[in-house]
Amino acid sequence: MALRMSTLFLRTLREDPADAELPGHKLLVRAGYIRRVAPGIYTWLPLGMKVLGKVEDIVREEMNQIGSQEVKFPALLPREPYEATGRWTEYGDNLFRLQDRKETDLLLGPTHEEMFCLAVKDMYSSYKDLPLSLYQIQNKYRDEARPRAGILRGREFIMKDAYSFDIDQAGLQKAYDGFREAYVRIFNRLGFEYVIVHADSGAMGGSASEEFLAVNENGEDTFVRDEHGYAANVEAVTVPQAAEIDASSTPTAQVHDTPDTPTIATLVDALNANHARTDGRSWDGADTLKNVLVMLAHPDGTREPLAIGLPGDREVDAKRLEVQVAPAEVEPFEEKDFAAYPMLAKGYIGPGVLGEEKSSKIRYLLDPSIAVGSAWVTGADEHGKHVLHLVHGRDFTADGTIQAGEIRQGDISPDGKGTLKLARGIEMGHIFQLGTKYAEALGLKVLDENGKLVTVTMGSYGVGVTRAVGVIAEDNNDEYGLVWPREIAPADVHVVVASKDAAVYVRTDEIVRQLEAQGLAVLYDDRPKVSPGVKFKDAELIGVPTILVIGKGLADGKVEIKDRRSGERREVAVDAVVTSVV
Ligand code: ATP
Ligand code: MG
Ligand code: MG
Ligand code: MG
Repeated sequence: MALRMSTLFLRTLREDPADAELPGHKLLVRAGYIRRVAPGIYTWLPLGMKVLGKVEDIVREEMNQIGSQEVKFPALLPREPYEATGRWTEYGDNLFRLQDRKETDLLLGPTHEEMFCLAVKDMYSSYKDLPLSLYQIQNKYRDEARPRAGILRGREFIMKDAYSFDIDQAGLQKAYDGFREAYVRIFNRLGFEYVIVHADSGAMGGSASEEFLAVNENGEDTFVRDEHGYAANVEAVTVPQAAEIDASSTPTAQVHDTPDTPTIATLVDALNANHARTDGRSWDGADTLKNVLVMLAHPDGTREPLAIGLPGDREVDAKRLEVQVAPAEVEPFEEKDFAAYPMLAKGYIGPGVLGEEKSSKIRYLLDPSIAVGSAWVTGADEHGKHVLHLVHGRDFTADGTIQAGEIRQGDISPDGKGTLKLARGIEMGHIFQLGTKYAEALGLKVLDENGKLVTVTMGSYGVGVTRAVGVIAEDNNDEYGLVWPREIAPADVHVVVASKDAAVYVRTDEIVRQLEAQGLAVLYDDRPKVSPGVKFKDAELIGVPTILVIGKGLADGKVEIKDRRSGERREVAVDAVVTSVV
């Protein structure tokens, strides 16, 4: 059924809303897609629902395509599961907490790892049940410090969140790859320019993690990319400074004068304050350096790690950092390592390999593509030169996060091969290999082939559905209004009757029926008392890709088709209208 403007719940505005800064946000309100209720809280009006539905359909189709099954969890949730994983407190002020009449604590879900994990625990018990992938398209609640740009950063917003469950890492990797491909298809269909960047896995506690950022100068994320396709969120990358120190030909490199490097004391304090070790020890300078500050890469960009260590218990002065480099024997990280070193799970160094503790000098090895560091060593073969790049220092703040921002345009990319460009983006999707963090905390285990209980390995995968509508609106507008891409538009054709003649309305009703019979969605401006001028303005503002004007020309069997994006108009015979509009 055509949406008839005579009855549509719509009131377009000539003035920009006072609280809006970005063009897409202003236009979504002015054209009657959304309306603000409170900061970061929006109502979706009929036209908005159409667009939202289109985005949801694309996401849903691609999720179903990879065999993920749709479910829907409540948004109102009990405290206990979030308590068990630590997120009741970790989420801080961002979490909406409330109490029921019995003073039982509840929350409004900001994301649902806990609930999906428990549902699978409830229903499944064997490796034979896996792999499994579930998703929902559902409201999320976050008390964002700065709700922004309407639906771009809401306090209530719609997310598609999906979760994968596997028996082992190989299974998780396969699920992750499948989601990654589905995300590429989703974001291609949504039609905005995006980059896939290495991400800081932050509070999610994962290891491998990537973000899909819409390239947008008004975005809140800063990312870097080089000419060879490397891209990363600046939160997740350290970059070698142009200044190089050509070290001696022995396997020891010395770094002098690194004024930007935070002092070891600062780092140690921050670690001890925020990342208590479960083995009861405190962090010391050497740990800090090994775990946080240093990462390594071969000059040819290969990821085979080099070991790095610091001389025993010696006091280390970050301004005169001594680094020993040697090829290492490695073994993969194990679960217990993550448990012993919570900061690993915090994503500060991401997936890496743990070196055999052969001597006090060789301990931790980091995956160079992910690790956060402030020293960067390239060039290491047994006899060759070691070239050590210094990384711009980054302040290790009191809350344990690492500040971004010191990366500069023109820096060398981490593999040493490219030059970095800085750009801004909006996070549209985020995929994580969570590993066993949630399953462990909530006891999700299944029996394996040998009848042994194993902890399930999870991934989590989010898409900002309402945010996607916001980004598409930001990307597709002009001075007259919104200009929707065809696949997202609230209708295929906007039919405008530019006449007061009742006979023209009768004929147009017929044309609208014909269009609909062809499967086209029609927005029909059938308002008898509204002037053609106002109708045209509204049509431009609303932004349906094709505008069909039926007026005076009808007497000569002619109607006009206007392309909203190019502004191009052409007259066509009314009998050919159905074939002409598509
Ligand atoms: P951001 O960095 O923008 O705050 P996030 O990393 O906190 O996002 P995730 O927890 O990764 O977000 O959630 C998955 C997706 O949900 C994000 O990639 C984003 O598209 C969307 N999203 C997150 N927060 C909001 C919000 N406040 N309003 C609208 N969409 C959001
Ligand atoms: Mg956030
Ligand atoms: Mg983010
Ligand atoms: Mg994210």
